[in-house]
Amino acid sequence: MARFSVAGFNKNYFAKGAGIIILLFLTGFTSVCVCSQTKILSLNSYHNGYKWTDPIVYAERDIFTRATRDLEFYVEYMDTKRVSGDEYFSHLKQIYKIKYSRLKLDLIIASDDDAFRFLLKYKDEVFPSVPVVFCGVNDFNPSMIAKRDDFTGYMEYLDAESTISLMLKLHPQTKRIFVISDCTVTGFAHRKSVQDISAKYPKINFIYLNGEDLTTAMLIQRVQQLKNGSLAIFTVWNTDKKDVFVSESDVISLLSANSPVPIYCLSDSWLGLGIVGGKLNSAAMHGKIAAQIGIEILNGKKPSEIPVEQRSPNQFMFDYNALKKWNIDFSLLPAQSVIINIPSSFYHKYKRLIWIVVSLILVQAIIIVELCLNIIRRKKAELSLVETERKFRMILENSSDILIFLDLKKMKYEYISPALHKITGYTPEEITAIGPLNIKEIIHPHDIESYMNRREKILGLKTGEEPNLYLEYRMKTKSGEYVWLSDEPKLVWDKKGAPEILVGSVRDITYKKIAEEKLKKQTEKLIESNAELERYTFIASHDMQEPLRIITTYLNIIYEKYASVLDPEAKNYIDRSIDNSVRMRRLIKDFLALTQLSKTPPKIDCIDCNKTLNKVLSELEPAIKESGADILIEPLPHIYADENLFITLMHNLLENAIKFRDYNRPLKIKLSVHKSNGNWIFSLRDNGIGIDSKFKERIFLLFERLSTRKNFFSTGIGLAIAKKIVENHNGRIWVESEQGHGSIFHFSIPIIKE
Ligand code: ADP
Repeated sequence: MARFSVAGFNKNYFAKGAGIIILLFLTGFTSVCVCSQTKILSLNSYHNGYKWTDPIVYAERDIFTRATRDLEFYVEYMDTKRVSGDEYFSHLKQIYKIKYSRLKLDLIIASDDDAFRFLLKYKDEVFPSVPVVFCGVNDFNPSMIAKRDDFTGYMEYLDAESTISLMLKLHPQTKRIFVISDCTVTGFAHRKSVQDISAKYPKINFIYLNGEDLTTAMLIQRVQQLKNGSLAIFTVWNTDKKDVFVSESDVISLLSANSPVPIYCLSDSWLGLGIVGGKLNSAAMHGKIAAQIGIEILNGKKPSEIPVEQRSPNQFMFDYNALKKWNIDFSLLPAQSVIINIPSSFYHKYKRLIWIVVSLILVQAIIIVELCLNIIRRKKAELSLVETERKFRMILENSSDILIFLDLKKMKYEYISPALHKITGYTPEEITAIGPLNIKEIIHPHDIESYMNRREKILGLKTGEEPNLYLEYRMKTKSGEYVWLSDEPKLVWDKKGAPEILVGSVRDITYKKIAEEKLKKQTEKLIESNAELERYTFIASHDMQEPLRIITTYLNIIYEKYASVLDPEAKNYIDRSIDNSVRMRRLIKDFLALTQLSKTPPKIDCIDCNKTLNKVLSELEPAIKESGADILIEPLPHIYADENLFITLMHNLLENAIKFRDYNRPLKIKLSVHKSNGNWIFSLRDNGIGIDSKFKERIFLLFERLSTRKNFFSTGIGLAIAKKIVENHNGRIWVESEQGHGSIFHFSIPIIKE
């Protein structure tokens, strides 16, 4: 370990000039240039590597680097623990003058008393007009900077009272406290901080182990001899009685190893070397606060505007190993205490690895769970598949139809249901052996062509085509008879769109075919007998007219020829006979017209209703004249209809309007037409006797008559014929009427030809 004494340095080694050159070298002189960055000098009383100074510099650099983008940070260590004195300061002044003369500094941070005092003395000469922030100064008096507006900062404050109170709380049997301090400025200041509050503890004997009285070896010896009931406070120890520099780290390690009683301290710089702890003055905090004040100045504040802080922050800090060594109850430590050297648990030591392993295990576990779930799901699916298959097999095997799966690519039956055996006598295996290509051998010769045509059609189909594949054919059973079968296959398509599987459902329709055949024969018979009946009716009706005509003629002859000899009663009988035979002829004629309507379909043409109606009016001219009817016919359209039938329809309706007129008022008839829902609606209105509403439907039935008029023959067929004609034209006929107030007969005829 290198140890330099101030005396040695002064007397023996360096001449003034040489000293300056060597100090330039020691302080890491480099030529500086003036540039635009923020330039800050950290001027430290002590040396680089010193446990108190290093955290200050580190904290300053950290704070300024964060706050300033373009920073040039210069650090100077005055090394006054090893070398000190006016001559040394004077040399330093020269060095700094040379070094910083061309450099325009923005700020100086001075740590501890020597740097502060150096600047008080030489700043105007070396660093004119550069603002200074000082920290860690024990020996401060406001008068020191009373006439200066370029200095601010804060004092070092040692909270010896809190530390001693805690020591006594943790070690209540304590009678003596040994205070260790050297003879440096810092040593005196620290010693004083204890002396100032010692009076507050009258029962405690404070014994001071001072650097001016003891060598380091003597100090160790004294500490070794401490007895129970004693405690020690280490403040600072760099030089001893012989003015030999010694590093605190070495001294503290030795003291801790040799002391039979716990040692406390006042600064966090000494923690971790065996000392228990205390309410500690923090070097890092000093650096941090000084830098923060510096930033305020860089931002434009004048140092004189920032008052000097009288106290610096301290906090309770302890070393875990020392606490354990002295068996100190952790629960007695103040809340928020910082404890260093807490052994990290296995978890803390391998936290990253543990989390990686845990994550991997977790991922693996998730994968395993997912796989298990998959297996369970698959098992469930398999079971439900088995169940579904069982159900489908039951359906297939119990179906009365033959269900077939035919592979169209291989031309092979994949499955034939057992119903085949019941219907054809063949087993599925036998038909599978015959195969789809040879199946035509057992198809009825008349049906082979249609059967094979359908197969060709199926094989040529493409996806999306859905032609009718229904077919009925006969198949020879095993016993040699034929059964009628029907099927309409469904197709399963391959990816290219060609039919791949044919699913057929073949049904035995033999009974249906027999029934159809029977029905066909019966229908044919019925049609034949109907036609025969119609023929007979026609002939009978036709032939009946002639004798009736002869009877009427002869009755008329008798009436005219023997009119003079016939008495009124005989004449009446002849009149009534003629009336009835005329009526009979009209009945037959109407009846024939009605049967004719059922037989022949209407011949639809485009007809001009105006012209057609003129024909009807001329037919009815005598009756119109005789009734004196006032007939208004609105313009009529061209319609699609059978002209003759339309004439008959209008004839019947107009004739009724005349026939059923009310003799108490002049007859008025009006024919109008309008369009509705794709139909022409014809409306024939009269002011005749009207119809009781309960007969509105019945009057259209065959032979329905509500009243008979003497002058007219009524057959009850006229409206039945009208209804038939309208219906043959896909129309409808209905009546609106009120008895005594006339009637309106409506009928519809589609506008478009149907
Ligand atoms: P017919 O005219 O031969 O009696 P229809 O079938 O033509 O037979 O008429 C059936 C019945 O409907 C008639 O008997 C009559 O009572 C009633 N009828 C038909 N048209 C009219 C009408 N315009 N006014 C009043 N009653 C009518």
